[in-house]
Amino acid sequence: MIDNLKQLFSFLDNAYNAQSIVSVIEEVFPLSAIYIYDQTTASLRDFSKSWMFIKSKDLTDIFNSLETKKYIIKGTKSYYALFNNNKIIGMLEFKEKLHEKLLEFLEISSFCISLKIQNIILTERMQKNIEFHDSMKNIAKIIETQYEISYIVPIIGEMIDKFVSDHLVYIFIDNKLVWPNACKDEKIFELIKCLNNKSEYILTPDKKIGLFPLISENKLLGCIVTKSTDNVLSEKEIEYLEQLSNQTATTINRANVYAEILKHATLDALTGFYNRRQLQERLKQEVSSAKRQKRNLCAIMTDIDFFKSVNDTYGHATGDLVLKTVSKIIKHQLRDYDIAGRYGGEEFVILLPFTKLEEAKMVSERLRKAVENTKIDISKINPDKPNKFINVTISLGVYEYQNGDYEKTLIRNADKALYIAKETGRNKVASIESSM
Ligand code: GH3
Ligand code: MG
Ligand code: MG
Repeated sequence: MIDNLKQLFSFLDNAYNAQSIVSVIEEVFPLSAIYIYDQTTASLRDFSKSWMFIKSKDLTDIFNSLETKKYIIKGTKSYYALFNNNKIIGMLEFKEKLHEKLLEFLEISSFCISLKIQNIILTERMQKNIEFHDSMKNIAKIIETQYEISYIVPIIGEMIDKFVSDHLVYIFIDNKLVWPNACKDEKIFELIKCLNNKSEYILTPDKKIGLFPLISENKLLGCIVTKSTDNVLSEKEIEYLEQLSNQTATTINRANVYAEILKHATLDALTGFYNRRQLQERLKQEVSSAKRQKRNLCAIMTDIDFFKSVNDTYGHATGDLVLKTVSKIIKHQLRDYDIAGRYGGEEFVILLPFTKLEEAKMVSERLRKAVENTKIDISKINPDKPNKFINVTISLGVYEYQNGDYEKTLIRNADKALYIAKETGRNKVASIESSM
């Protein structure tokens, strides 16, 4: 027996995780499981199966009754208590009735087993802490270097997933789910509506759903949600999630600010279309794709008719309102992947990828009609003028990309077509069939 003890102690010494402890004890005893009471979640866990939550009432009852007895035989199985400082911390489950000799052996060795298990638990906790701090560092790095929300969100989602591994994790931005792809729980959507920019984290009464608001600079940007079917969040996990949501909120806020700056640098403030510089950039990309992939591409150049007289009659502010309205009408008529840019004062360029000349002429005609048929309400800017509404018209020039055309050829020919439309009466569509 002394030899056996020596062997057990030396094996225990070398055990480094839950699995290795289990196999060491299995060498000596007919072990079937190790259950440990988890203080933070106030529940019994299967130590040998990665802390699986134990639902069985029988096992919980056995565990409770072991507070006063050292071991219990139940059916074909037996249970032996593990103590630390006279307080029960868990139990060993054996697949058979323990005979005298094994009981004697356990009497001497259970203290060591219990100590080793606690040691491993502490080490695992420390490891998790280290990983947590590493991941906080990672997030800090992302904050410094990444500005794309679509890039940041999955990284953060996966990190959180790692720390609250037995929970589902969702990230919402502006009330929309951004990670992962689906959330079927209506209750979560209801709960999110309760958040505001002063909210602290919320736990449902059963502690199974946790909401951690993403607040930065007094703005509610979204929230991180955790959900579990049988686990409650531990205090430590709540602490993690609070820190992570603070960091995440800062990251998202930065990304939003950056997107805003980028928008101003690329979009025209009055019309919301690409500005001229960005339009050139997009033109370059579209011409190169048309060339490479032999795709159809059309360019439309459009200009408001007699716009000068709108300015002269109603003032510059009305002119601006007309520009805004016309650009809105155009935007409304286009597909998502069409490109519209403000080329000059009241001249717009529209690029239609995957589009043949005939189709582009039809789009142009549609635009022309839509503008012609819109009554623009100018009464707010011109309360003294007799007419509340004015109409404007546009002329459009269309040209289809021909293989080998340069970017400037495309624009020049659309402009030539526009000139024809102007010269031949305005409020009309003209086109040029091939490179001139
Ligand atoms: P046409 O039918 O030949 O195009 O006649 P037009 O009067 O529209 O002539 P043109 O295109 O040369 O006139 C452009 C005018 O647009 C001149 C300029 O004062 C005005 N304009 C340019 N940019 C803006 C702007 O941002 N706001 C306002 N209100 N007017 C602008
Ligand atoms: Mg004009
Ligand atoms: Mg003009």
